[in-house]
Amino acid sequence: MFTKYVFVTGGVASSLGKGIIASSLAKLLQARGYKVANQKLDPYINVDPGTLNPYEHGECYVTDDGAETDLDLGHYERFTNCPTSQANNVTTGKIYQNVINKERRGDYLGKTVQIIPHITDEIKRNIQRLGAKREYDVVITEIGGTVGDIESLPFIEAVRQLRWELNEKSVFIHLTLVPFLSASGELKTKPTQHSVKALLEIGVQPDILVLRTEHELSRDLRRKVAQFCNVAPNAVVQSIDVDTIYKVPIKMREEKLDEIVLEKLALPLNHEPDLHSWELFLDRLEHYNHEVTIALVGKYVELHDAYKSIAESFIHAGAENDCKVNVKWVHSSEITRENVGEIMHDVDGVLVAPGFGNRGIKGKIHAIEYARMNDIPFLGVCLGMQMAVVEFARNVLHLDGADSTEMTPGTKCPVIDMMESQKVIIDKGGTMRLGAYKCLLKKGSKAYEAYGGQEEVEERHRHRYEFNNLFKEQFEQAGMITTGMNPETGLTEIVEIPSLTWFVGTQFHPEYKSTVTRPHPLFVAFVKHALAKKNTIN
Ligand code: GLN
Repeated sequence: MFTKYVFVTGGVASSLGKGIIASSLAKLLQARGYKVANQKLDPYINVDPGTLNPYEHGECYVTDDGAETDLDLGHYERFTNCPTSQANNVTTGKIYQNVINKERRGDYLGKTVQIIPHITDEIKRNIQRLGAKREYDVVITEIGGTVGDIESLPFIEAVRQLRWELNEKSVFIHLTLVPFLSASGELKTKPTQHSVKALLEIGVQPDILVLRTEHELSRDLRRKVAQFCNVAPNAVVQSIDVDTIYKVPIKMREEKLDEIVLEKLALPLNHEPDLHSWELFLDRLEHYNHEVTIALVGKYVELHDAYKSIAESFIHAGAENDCKVNVKWVHSSEITRENVGEIMHDVDGVLVAPGFGNRGIKGKIHAIEYARMNDIPFLGVCLGMQMAVVEFARNVLHLDGADSTEMTPGTKCPVIDMMESQKVIIDKGGTMRLGAYKCLLKKGSKAYEAYGGQEEVEERHRHRYEFNNLFKEQFEQAGMITTGMNPETGLTEIVEIPSLTWFVGTQFHPEYKSTVTRPHPLFVAFVKHALAKKNTIN
């Protein structure tokens, strides 16, 4: 069977939730028995978002195959459980890089290399890469940005061409906003009309319109939009604001988005979507009996998207524990030895976040020391784990000047150090230790228990520095032990302090693998222990 394509564009405003609509549609088609993949095309010139500051674009999401990608890929995985890869995220920078490499190799045989056809052909090739595997019934390709942006033009031109080539094997969804003017108490459709007009100007007639709105849209309003935009009335779908993104698939089901898409793709409806486990999750999310507060200590906390996967992991793990997790966002540079007690007085757990560079490091160390001294359940992720090691070295082992060589390059006591293979690398982009690696768990440890007695797991990485195994024995004698290890290289993956209730640091990022129906075991255990701790105190 040939793969069919759904293209999702956005208009009127950014941040309307194209990624969530694309993920929800994928979820619904999957729940009807279809094999679906999501893909994101990003119009920026960076080759990948790995070099972007999180303030610019939120978290960088890492896939099993080590691709540094847009955070929307995290939504795709959290909704569908399907692992994504390099092929699922393509940027303008990547497209140009490929085209320029081909030009240098002489592949274009003396031709003038142009946006049309060379860039658009490269875009089309990348869109069809997933379909070429013949593994998917439907590929849903989301085009980043908003219609009218200069950067997204080549992408839209490429999908315009593809639509012709694919015929009935593709469908075009356009997501817009219907604003509510409170002064006149009216919902306005004009921006949607203009946005569709802008799409038409570049040759694309959308088949389905999804209208983001704060209020229910009447039949009349939908009919009006349909008429102005040459779309069938039943293909004007509302996407009403909801309190959690996880309700969007249910809303899209009510609006029959999945049915409309399948009809237009000439695919059978199969059975009704099986959303049983999804609904169970939503039910748990809404009807919880417990609450915990967990401090998330990081340096980008003003922008919650910078820690998207961690925040979502808490939602998944909370539901699993019949518990709402309130995240207390704490800026690491605000924490001092004097105020740490005050800041942490109402928290049941402390998570120290991943990150790069020196800013806010002192605050992270104070937070870790406080969690350790007061036996507050603790999870350190990547840099958070590394700083737990540094804190232990300084305050328990009293190793003078102990540090990570990332923070103090010439330190005489490098408890966290760069791997030899990393030292020769100069380029910043795509050169970290990236993607999935195996981790062997120590029997009887907190991690082993959390993973339900599995001996080997696989988790995703994004870092340059490592625990320096030369210090391992010293740490273990003093009570911080390695409980997870890479079976091939011997690198330390997890550290724990077994004398405490739950103190775990991971060199990998567990948050990238937490999904709605498969909450991450370490987050589940962390929340469970935070809750237990809270209950013993009260
Ligand atoms: N900066 C640290 C390193 O490169 C940690 C990275 C991270 O937290 N993802 O090893």
